[in-house]
Amino acid sequence: MSRSIYLDYNASTPLRAAVAATLAEAMGRVGNPSSVHGFGREARRCVEEARARVAALVGALPGEVVFTSGATESNALALAGFARPRRLVSALEHDSIIAAEGVEIFAAHSDGTADLDALKALLARDPRPALVCLMLANNETGVVQPVAAAVEIAHAHGALLHCDAVQAAGRLSVSRPDLGADSLSLSAHKIGGPMGCGALVLRPGLRLKALFAGGRQENGRRPGTENVPAIVGFGVAAEIAAADTTVAKALAAMRDDLEARLVSHLPGVAIHGAGAPRLPNTSCFSTPGLDAATQVMALDLAGVAVSAGAACSSGKVQTSHVLAAMGVPAQAAGSAIRVSFGWDSRPDDVDRFLAAWRALLDRRAAKTASIRAVAPGRASG
Ligand code: PMP
Repeated sequence: MSRSIYLDYNASTPLRAAVAATLAEAMGRVGNPSSVHGFGREARRCVEEARARVAALVGALPGEVVFTSGATESNALALAGFARPRRLVSALEHDSIIAAEGVEIFAAHSDGTADLDALKALLARDPRPALVCLMLANNETGVVQPVAAAVEIAHAHGALLHCDAVQAAGRLSVSRPDLGADSLSLSAHKIGGPMGCGALVLRPGLRLKALFAGGRQENGRRPGTENVPAIVGFGVAAEIAAADTTVAKALAAMRDDLEARLVSHLPGVAIHGAGAPRLPNTSCFSTPGLDAATQVMALDLAGVAVSAGAACSSGKVQTSHVLAAMGVPAQAAGSAIRVSFGWDSRPDDVDRFLAAWRALLDRRAAKTASIRAVAPGRASG
């Protein structure tokens, strides 16, 4: 049997080999970074080395990086820690932001970008201090958001801007200072690092209240003994991602090849966000008459792993709030699947995907024909 192919990098990426080796080594060592003895000092040195590597990935200074248990926690820390009475979040945000209590949502355009006029109107409506959340690239469509412009608007209104850069890191060049964002979320497992580790990168000088009580780790912003092996692995993954400057071109070539062949086979295929700038690796599309769950399961049986909607949040197929915010009709949204490539993808993965998808279309066409043959002459109307 031919190998299964993994086209779900936006849900999680394979561990880079160098990261796996570093993790194994780090797990074999003892030492709490807060201990003053030699073991503790060595653990601290490893954490600080990783901090510098993660900072470098987003053009930040090491002191700006707060390690967390992942981007869900980073987002929660930004939402609560800035203690702003208003939190204005785009309709496209990940569940870890949009599902937070009391947030006010601003709309999106049909091309998958956030509506900054809607943000302005929301900011102007109420003078209380606000935090604005706008992600850098959407996890479902890959659409890149106008974050620098949103930062200007937010700052002009005295608001802070938090940016979830989880999907952009390692795929686009990301600079926290160039974006001007006050904070940025990252997740290790989206860039070839381990699960359960992430960071909140903070503009220097900002006050941030910790989510929980405890020790003074991470400058008092994130108490609890650091997950040293995962942090070290995150650092190695960040260094590899920062050095990997050619991958984006290869990913875009695979994505463009896939989309051109999808549309030429079936012109009714709708590619969501195709009119906006997008991540090079992501394609989200609807196939008329095929629901997402059927496609994901049939493709899985054919050895091709993809996702439907935001599958990384639940494992279940649920209506996508992102596609709904873009005004995609419910039936088309219910058919949307996401293919996301990564550094281990190969151009012939596109052939494998298309062969499995076309076989599914053929089976559906044969089934429809046999139903017509059994029940002829049923007039529509
Ligand atoms: N934000 C975005 C845009 C994501 O895609 C994800 C992962 N699905 C998260 C946040 C949460 O990241 P983590 O898995 O590290 O909690």
